[in-house]
Amino acid sequence: MTLHLRTRLCGVIGDPIEHSLSPVMHNAAFRELGLDYAYFAFHVPKESLKPAILGVVGLGIVGLNVTIPHKLQVLRYLDHVDEEASRLGAVNTVINRDGRLYGCNTDGIGALRALEQNGVTVKGKRSTLMGAGGASRAIAFKLSEHVRSMTILNRTKSRAASLARSLRRYRNIEVKVKELTEENLSETLRETDILINATPIGMWPNVDVTPVRKELLPSGLTVFDIVYNPIQTRLLHDASKRGCRVIDGVDMLVHQGAPAFKLWTGREAPIEVMRKAVLRALKRKFGS
Ligand code: NAP
Repeated sequence: MTLHLRTRLCGVIGDPIEHSLSPVMHNAAFRELGLDYAYFAFHVPKESLKPAILGVVGLGIVGLNVTIPHKLQVLRYLDHVDEEASRLGAVNTVINRDGRLYGCNTDGIGALRALEQNGVTVKGKRSTLMGAGGASRAIAFKLSEHVRSMTILNRTKSRAASLARSLRRYRNIEVKVKELTEENLSETLRETDILINATPIGMWPNVDVTPVRKELLPSGLTVFDIVYNPIQTRLLHDASKRGCRVIDGVDMLVHQGAPAFKLWTGREAPIEVMRKAVLRALKRKFGS
């Protein structure tokens, strides 16, 4: 990457941030389109969020992605947050327009496109979501525009209940809430078409753990794991063996990045280039 005086800067803020594949993905896209942009990963601990955001305006940074633990707190430092991100209370993309900061959330559309891209029709389906954190909230809001029903299972049931309350305010679908236990999974998966893991269970380095025991996965179920490091999690490995349709987290990563890329540059994102850059980086890390 060659940097010039006029190179426009984008980046991702989070803590930890070393694992982020967004720099590899966006820099590959800038190179492909010959754009004089560069994307950096900024390690921003909780207490540094405010000065970091002030720095975006001060330094004229074009745009940011926001990841753990800032997706919720960042809202208070933005000038405008779009309707969907306000409703779900989390922002993953910031755009600097002449010194005013706009926030939106592309995780939901990223997940929906990942499902569609893999041939899954969500309309009218019974969905089950594991997790009630930032990613889960975004996915729940987007999917609930299309699915027939949604069951949210979370370790902390009260958090799932709070997400369900927000959903019911805006959507007219059946939403159930349960604690994430084996018994509840067993009961719920018998009445589920699409299961989504939106917890970090199975993420590197804890690659041998899974949120669902293999025997509980009925064949015919679609299993979407938004964890992408490793690409094939233990959950997806087990689900394949049980005859389920499986979708990994790479397509979501690419499709949540693509709208951000367009907002910052005004250009359509080169999806395939981004996907290949992510896969290459993951191959370097995991060797498969
Ligand atoms: P988050 O806001 O911290 O939420 C984490 C959720 O997982 C919470 O509901 C938490 O439950 C649950 N959880 C965490 N550890 C658990 C454990 N050991 N057992 C049971 N439940 C557990 O995180 P997030 O931003 O939603 O991200 C979740 C995962 O999605 C991460 O692995 C992240 O890398 C991945 N992700 C992928 C993409 C993509 O593009 N593919 C995009 C965003 C995120 P409690 O409420 O009980 O704490």
